[in-house]
Amino acid sequence: MPELPEVEVTRLGIQPHLEGQQVTDAHIIDGRLRWPVPSNLRTILAGQTLHRIERRGKYLLFQMDTGHLLIHLGMTGVLRVLPVQEPLKPHDRVVVVFGKRSLRLHDPRKFGAVLWHASKRGSIEDHPLLLKLGTEPFSTDFAGDLGAAVLYRCSRGRSVAVKSFLLAGQAVVGVGNIYCSESLFEAGIHPAKPAGKLTKPQCARLATAVRMVLKKAIAAGGSTLRDFVDSEGKQGYFTMQSKVYDRRGEPCRVCKTPIRQIVQGQRSTYFCPACQKR
Ligand SMILES: [Zn+2]
Repeated sequence: MPELPEVEVTRLGIQPHLEGQQVTDAHIIDGRLRWPVPSNLRTILAGQTLHRIERRGKYLLFQMDTGHLLIHLGMTGVLRVLPVQEPLKPHDRVVVVFGKRSLRLHDPRKFGAVLWHASKRGSIEDHPLLLKLGTEPFSTDFAGDLGAAVLYRCSRGRSVAVKSFLLAGQAVVGVGNIYCSESLFEAGIHPAKPAGKLTKPQCARLATAVRMVLKKAIAAGGSTLRDFVDSEGKQGYFTMQSKVYDRRGEPCRVCKTPIRQIVQGQRSTYFCPACQKR
């Protein structure tokens, strides 16, 4: 499933080819995604200029003249910029044409989303899908000491395990299952520790670890940027070398203690029992 780093790498991959371009056409091949794609997409978009592509959590926000096109990749979505004459592939769902280029959403499992938010309905930040998202990990609101303050404030009174607290994304967005294990390891925090028991220094270490782990994952995707404009490009997503995730029984890269796996909220968590104390 594409996580925040993959979505950010997608944004970086397509942005240079589309920003400033005008939409000339749009086709819906199969609009039965997580929510129905607006059937009048072509009427809405044709003639509009794409000014900027931004990201909020795992949503890509295409800022047009009169509103925003929201795209979510769901479980299996991939966006590509391809020549308009390039034949469609099975599972291509939506195509937005920019003159000689086309932006294509390929989504075998159809959990992705393509939605329109008109500016006259209010600010994009107040869209119901974006309103409850936690702080962006790379925003100024999460930079330096502010990140620690966000984690400390949001975790007070919470008895839920810190792993589940992070994964929920209500404090900070983008820390998917892999990145939860990796961030807690980097911060030296046991994944089962109740979130409300995190100390201020632990929150500071965790905020730093979250930023570092996500940055590393985005950097790992840098080598795949060309795939976004290549029909032969890899459809899968990159993987970064993990320190604990998916390494059960293997020696900790710091202390050689075997990595342990536990299940929290039906998701696997990996940690080092020696480096990560409760
Ligand atoms: Zn260790």
